[in-house]
Amino acid sequence: MSLNIEEIRELFPVLHQQVHGNPLVYFDNAATTQKPKAVLDALCGYYERDNSNIHRGAHTLADRATRYYEKTRKSIRDFIGAKEEAEIIFTKGTTESINLVASTYGRKYISEGDEILISTMEHHSNIVPWQILCEEKKANLKVIPINEAGELLCEEFEKMISEKTKLVSIVHASNALGSINPVKEIIKKAHEFGAKVLVDGAQSTSHLNIDVQDLDCDFLAFSAHKLYGPTGLGVLYGKRKVLEEMPPYQGGGEMIKEVSFEKTTFNEIPYKFEAGTPNIADVIAFQKALEFINNIGKKEIKKHEDDLLSYANSAFTEIKGFIPVGTAKEKVSVLSFNINGMHPFDVGMMLDAKGIAVRTGHHCTQPLMKWFGIEGTVRASFSVYNTKQEIDLMAASLAKIAKIKNK
Ligand code: PMP
Repeated sequence: MSLNIEEIRELFPVLHQQVHGNPLVYFDNAATTQKPKAVLDALCGYYERDNSNIHRGAHTLADRATRYYEKTRKSIRDFIGAKEEAEIIFTKGTTESINLVASTYGRKYISEGDEILISTMEHHSNIVPWQILCEEKKANLKVIPINEAGELLCEEFEKMISEKTKLVSIVHASNALGSINPVKEIIKKAHEFGAKVLVDGAQSTSHLNIDVQDLDCDFLAFSAHKLYGPTGLGVLYGKRKVLEEMPPYQGGGEMIKEVSFEKTTFNEIPYKFEAGTPNIADVIAFQKALEFINNIGKKEIKKHEDDLLSYANSAFTEIKGFIPVGTAKEKVSVLSFNINGMHPFDVGMMLDAKGIAVRTGHHCTQPLMKWFGIEGTVRASFSVYNTKQEIDLMAASLAKIAKIKNK
């Protein structure tokens, strides 16, 4: 079955606009995806009909809002194959999910001389929380190397892991290169040494089928806004046993069972980690984003995106001065590159003048850019609503831009 992309595009109001007199071509999906109308309607609908604080209310609106809120939690459980809803914690985003683990699990279980493993291709949000923790605990942060294609060197990982390793925190798919890491194998190996594994799923959850029970990861972090959902909302999945043993993240309402001035007892998971009034509207609206994905199916989405990626690869390779960055065999639909002799930002600005939205710079992966010996890249990232015609438009513009320096 092939997807009807025109029909899908109709669901996204934002796509139907001109930028600098040209039809918008939105290729910045790795930064954030656009939102279908159903998500926008659900956001407004909540405030128009159901606005109320959740969980403790005795009235109809509170009951309705609570049911919708918890329905999304159930849908996320199904979406990632978790055993139970209690293992799904709402956060602000991938960044907060990782910070939550660093400041609760990390503070409790990491001690002097312990090791935490990450990789060369991590996003800053999967580097800095561990650096802060390691400094506090006098633990060591070790970095798994990659090859020129931007693939993880698994043999090196196997040499690095030891009884000292307490945690491996690894990106599933790189936002800067698109490389997909063999996380299942990494998790299996890490568990042999008793280490826990956090998977940064910010870029993988929108493209790949995720089954946390099959992967056997201890934690999975991701953001709703990269999954056609609202900004300011993320998820931390954790195995029940691990979450139960972790201290709470923030103190406040909702996360308690009983408070006295002498002692407080904490709520059950997941509420133990959800202090204060949560992001109710965005959680409720996220349900519609998940329904959008489920209606099409991840397999179909991936197939379409793979098709776009290989089409763009062939089209851009023809352009004189085109230098791809990250050529891993297994990739999500991210195409990072440079144009010989040109600064990525200038290329991005010239594309924007034609209505083409790409990201330029270090993509919050400065150590990775340093490893490649570059300042940054131009990044085109494709989503289910993109088309080959849009890639043709970009290829034509890019060819003209590249000619400035590559005659
Ligand atoms: N990890 C990866 C791989 C990402 O791509 C991103 C977002 N660019 C993040 C973490 C952080 O996500 P957020 O900003 O939504 O917290």
